[in-house]
Amino acid sequence: MSPEEFRAAAHEAVDWIADYLRDARQYPVLPRIQPGHLVDCLPKTGPLRGEPIEAILGDFRELIVPATTHWNHPRFLAYFANSASGPGILGEMLCAALNSNHMLWKTGPAAAELEQVALGWLRQWLGLPDQFFGMIHDTASTATMHAVMAAREAAAPQIRIAGEYPPLVLYASEHANFSVDRAALVAGIGLNHIRHIAIDDEFRMIPKALETAIESDLAAGKRPFCVVPTLGTTSSASLDPLPAIVAIARRYRLWLHIDAAYAGPAALLDEYKGILDGAEAADSLVVNPHKWLFTPMDLSILYTRRPEVFRRALSLEETPAYIAAAGGERAVNFSEYALSLGRRFRALKLWFVLRYYGREGIEKILREHIRIAHDLAAWICEDPDFELAAPVMFSLVCFRLRGTDEQNRELLDRVNATGEAFLSGTMLHGRFVLRVAIGNIGTTAPDVEHVWGLVKKEARGRLPV
Ligand code: PLP
Repeated sequence: MSPEEFRAAAHEAVDWIADYLRDARQYPVLPRIQPGHLVDCLPKTGPLRGEPIEAILGDFRELIVPATTHWNHPRFLAYFANSASGPGILGEMLCAALNSNHMLWKTGPAAAELEQVALGWLRQWLGLPDQFFGMIHDTASTATMHAVMAAREAAAPQIRIAGEYPPLVLYASEHANFSVDRAALVAGIGLNHIRHIAIDDEFRMIPKALETAIESDLAAGKRPFCVVPTLGTTSSASLDPLPAIVAIARRYRLWLHIDAAYAGPAALLDEYKGILDGAEAADSLVVNPHKWLFTPMDLSILYTRRPEVFRRALSLEETPAYIAAAGGERAVNFSEYALSLGRRFRALKLWFVLRYYGREGIEKILREHIRIAHDLAAWICEDPDFELAAPVMFSLVCFRLRGTDEQNRELLDRVNATGEAFLSGTMLHGRFVLRVAIGNIGTTAPDVEHVWGLVKKEARGRLPV
């Protein structure tokens, strides 16, 4: 593709993107298609001869977009949102153009250093200690997998050489994200050695139950090694009681990994700073700018007080000559701390977002999301046909129709089938509830008002008699 051909096509693509950002609400949030639809629409074999870019862009508009679930739609309220904000998209475009790969400092000095700078800014904004080292992963699942691997290394360093395991045990609440279990699975901990600690009425880990589980494992000759509290659980955004869990982790010398994937950014706000009280004692912590920090997929940050453990866990007896790190003290070679050798220049889009909105701008949006969530909660409480299913901690609202699980599932399907909004469901206290997760940068109070109207309309005539 010649630079001139690229320029013309890129202008067309950028025009499309700008229209898409402006007109996102005109798309159905969920595509009205059946599985296999796109596969059936596209040729069974790849083209022998190259095709004009106009044809490819045309098919993008005509075939790909209609088969897309629009995460960037302001009424995408199903899973924790993510936003392709304007500055984030620009950072992503330029990242693709530079195609930098900072497996070593010398292979991508700008990417390696901007990762330190942008993550350092965010670390300060979150009030985390200066000595926390940050690294970018694609997702919280990958970040947590690395944290569990480091926890394993810290508890049983002989594993690296001998591959032999003592019976290590990991603890997380019943409401921890399933990525924690999968991280333990990959680290070879074994499903039998993951303890799901009981929760209280507000879906928070019960510290006493944690302590009892640890004592019982010790009595059985097992080796407690890691605890993963969550700040902002997936189902209800509940907060595990961090200070009490920190004290237990200290007493039993457990690696403390905090999952703040969704709610972490709230700690930017003075009124939510306290959620990270105790986090300074963490061995590691994950927060996802690709959830509630307006940075496009994918960008998850792992902060750790103990980067050397990650490096040790992944070190070989002999590093191949072709990848030998060099560059001196100030050269950070990120591939030493993570499994993947190649690394995208993800920090660029985060840096664009942090600079464009600034701390104040981001705080304003977060506060507005929290305010809208509380408005919705108030409307739910005022309506005799509905009930709130969990305290509203941040920007997630869980509620249900005062009826059966079946009626609530049906209500969810009906709302989603309108294409005007996408909500999700979960189980809380054994009952099916609806989730409205506010967090997309474009979501406004009228959007949520509209969705509440839709829920009431679709519920009409289906209420228990
Ligand atoms: N932790 C929590 C609390 C989550 O809610 C999620 C996903 O929603 C994850 C971890 C996994 O995030 P990712 O998709 O980045 O792996």
